[in-house]
Amino acid sequence: MKNFFSKEQIGRLSELFSAANDVVILSHTNPDGDAIGSVVAMKRFLALEGKKSTIIIPNKHPEYLSFLDPEVEIVVYKEHRGRAENLIRSCDLILALDFNQLSRIDELETIVRESISHKVLVDHHPSPERGPFDLVFSETEISSNCELLYWLFKTITGRDLPLEVAEPLYVGMMTDTNNFANSVLASTFRMASDLIVAGVDKERLQHLVFGGFSESRMRLMGYLLSERMTVLPDFEAGFIMLSKEDQERFSFNEGDSEGFVNMPLSIKGINIAALFTESEGVVRVSLRSSNDFSVNKMARRFFNGGGHERASGGKLYIPFDRVADYFVESLNICIEEYRNEQI
Ligand code: 5GP
Ligand code: MN
Repeated sequence: MKNFFSKEQIGRLSELFSAANDVVILSHTNPDGDAIGSVVAMKRFLALEGKKSTIIIPNKHPEYLSFLDPEVEIVVYKEHRGRAENLIRSCDLILALDFNQLSRIDELETIVRESISHKVLVDHHPSPERGPFDLVFSETEISSNCELLYWLFKTITGRDLPLEVAEPLYVGMMTDTNNFANSVLASTFRMASDLIVAGVDKERLQHLVFGGFSESRMRLMGYLLSERMTVLPDFEAGFIMLSKEDQERFSFNEGDSEGFVNMPLSIKGINIAALFTESEGVVRVSLRSSNDFSVNKMARRFFNGGGHERASGGKLYIPFDRVADYFVESLNICIEEYRNEQI
C-alpha cells in the first residue's frame, strides 16, 4: 500500500489542528460531489476532535447533493458575502479542499490571500499553487480528493472512521470516478471496502446520487444526444452544446448536466469529449479524454482552465455560436501535436 504522507506532514497538520479554535473549510466554485463530500467529511472529522468549523463555498452546490448536509450549515459566498468574508478574516485556520489554485474560488481568492490565518491545502489536481499555504497535501495518483482525505484521516487517527465521516467520503469518491469508471486504483477499492465495512450503505448512496434525476433532466439528455452532439471521427472526438435556450426549455437546474460530458466517450472510436454550457457572460467548458491525450494541456492553452490529464474544465468568453468552430480549431492544433508526440 502506497504511503501518501510523510511523518513531518502529519505532525505539522496535527499541530495546526491542535492550535486552531476557529476553522474555515473551503472548496471550489461549482462544487461537485467530491468537493461537497470533502468539506462535509472534514467538518464532521474536526467535530470528533472537538473543533468548531464552518464550511464556505463560492456558489451553491446542486440539489442532488443536499442529502449530504442535512444538519451541516454551508455558507454560500454568493448569498452571504459579508458573513463569509468575516468568517475568513476571523478564523485561525483555513482548509482548502479539492482545488489546486486559489483562482478556483473566484471572488473569494483575494480575501483568502489576504488572510493571515494558517492555510492547508488537500488536493488531487496537478500543479498545486503552494505559495499561500503553510502545508500542502497533493497527490494526483488517486481517485478523488475524498480518497486522499480518507487516507489522511486514517493516518492521523489510526482508527476506522465513523459512519458520518465515511458516508460523504464514499459519495465524493463515487461521483469523482463517475461510479467506479475512471481513475479507480487498488487503493480506491481498499477504501471502498473499508467504508462498506464501516457501515456505508452503497445501494442507498448509489440510489441517492444516480437515481434521483428529474424527468426534465432525462429528456434534456436525450435531446442533447439526438440534436446537439457533434461527432468528429477524424479527431476521435465528440462534443455537446448546451445553450441557454435549451436550458430554459428543459427547466435546467445547476448540476443537471453532471455526467453529460462523458457521453460521447461511449461511442466506439471516440476518445475526446467536450461539453459547452452557455452561462451568464461566459461559456463553461468541460473536457474529457479516455486515452493519453491531455485535456489538461488543452484546457490551459485554449480554455482558460486546467484540471486533470483526462478531466479538465475552463471558461470561454466568446459568443456561444462561435464556440464549436473555436473548439475544432483548437482540437486541430492539439491533435496534431499529440500525434507527433506519439511517433
Ligand atoms: P468539470 O468538467 O467536471 O467541471 O471539471 C473537470 C475538472 O476540471 C475538475 O477536476 C476541475 O477541477 C477542473 N476545472 C473545471 N473548471 C475549471 C476552471 O475553470 N479552471 C481550472 N483550472 N480547472 C477547472
Ligand atoms: Mn475532485
